[in-house]
Amino acid sequence: MEQNDITIIGAGFAGLACARRAASQGMRTAVLERKPCPGANIRTTGILVKEAADLLNLPSHLSRHISGVRLYSPNGKWIDLSSPGYSFVATDTPGMMRWLMQKAESAGAEVRLSQNVSQFQMEESNVLLPEAGIISRFLVGCDGARSNVARKFGLSSNRDFLMGAEAEYVGIDGLEQDKLHVFLDSKLAPGYIGWIVPGVGISQVGIAVRSPHKPDLRAFEAKIAKLIDFSKAKVIGRRGGLIPCGGVLKHWYTDRVMLLGDAAGMVSPLTAGGIYPSLELGANAGISISHYLQGKISDPVEDILAMVPRYGVKGMMRWSMDHLSPPNALYNLALGNPVFRRIAQVLFFHHRGLFCAQAWKDILHMGNTSADVTG
Ligand SMILES: Cc1cc2nc3c(=O)[nH]c(=O)nc-3n(C[C@H](O)[C@H](O)[C@H](O)COP(=O)(O)OP(=O)(O)OC[C@H]3O[C@@H](n4cnc5c(N)ncnc54)[C@H](O)[C@@H]3O)c2cc1C
Repeated sequence: MEQNDITIIGAGFAGLACARRAASQGMRTAVLERKPCPGANIRTTGILVKEAADLLNLPSHLSRHISGVRLYSPNGKWIDLSSPGYSFVATDTPGMMRWLMQKAESAGAEVRLSQNVSQFQMEESNVLLPEAGIISRFLVGCDGARSNVARKFGLSSNRDFLMGAEAEYVGIDGLEQDKLHVFLDSKLAPGYIGWIVPGVGISQVGIAVRSPHKPDLRAFEAKIAKLIDFSKAKVIGRRGGLIPCGGVLKHWYTDRVMLLGDAAGMVSPLTAGGIYPSLELGANAGISISHYLQGKISDPVEDILAMVPRYGVKGMMRWSMDHLSPPNALYNLALGNPVFRRIAQVLFFHHRGLFCAQAWKDILHMGNTSADVTG
């Protein structure tokens, strides 16, 4: 049996961020990942909000800055939104995952690939993982939206989901490259949005809907074909998956076991942004758990609790999207409304919502452009 300090299930954003920090604190750390490579079978669009991009500082060949959002109403009209000094980052997502793995390994973590983990036993103050031949002082479940670790240790599980589907294209013409293209349509995307991302060497076309609806990517592509030239376009890959949207779970830790990232529901219920909380809380948990195991603090969760997002306003907005289902006619009207634009501005550019000073500056000094695409 290999004796570890910290064993992490899942080499996604949360798992690799946690491993990197824990290993850099001198902890004997292993990440167990069932895929043959963390960049295989990607499930995310991989857009980084500015805060996540600042945290990572990705090399330029893996990233592409996008300065604003073009927001389309169901009738095809659009407005442009931006915020001074703010940009999103589209990523070569498989490349980014490999880069994150290298960072964790350089810090001293072992990343074991093609290692599915389904069995766990508590043994005094250790967790035993018989399939991997590991005995560990602490276990971290970063195993995604349908966490097995959560189930095995009787922690809370995600129940509310958005379901996303995305196609990777080459050869799409007529796409404004410096914008995230976001489409409101409560018939095609009930509870969420459709999008086109001018990514790194590809364009990503996707849609997500509130379960139990199913995303109809073809119907969405047929709709946007009026705006974008698909005649030379070719699909080279597909992505998709579940996005927890019920907010942070009630029970996400117990003695010597902690959930992080999607496994703990640490995803914005409204915007579905999960990469930043996974990276930020993953890294901080890596430090806190290390300090706990080194006897410097008595509770590994105390420091992290203060950082866990509450998503109060976004949770309420998620409730409204689910229960009031704004009709398309309302979206068409709203796009021309200055109050709606200001709310959209805050949602897109300020992950802390109205708690962010820049959000208020934007609200007070908004200078948008708008245009009618359909003419
Ligand atoms: C279609 C879609 C688009 C999205 N777009 C964005 C976006 O643009 N920006 C954004 O911020 N967020 C986005 N999200 C959300 C974001 O991708 C997630 O919140 C984020 O990936 C969560 O990271 P994680 O590390 O918690 O989990 P994951 O990235 O899901 O990683 C979990 C890992 O655990 C592994 N694993 C699971 N079970 C086991 C097991 N039993 N044994 C071993 N390994 C296991 C999996 O293989 C996986 O590698 C999107 C999500 C979806 C589905």
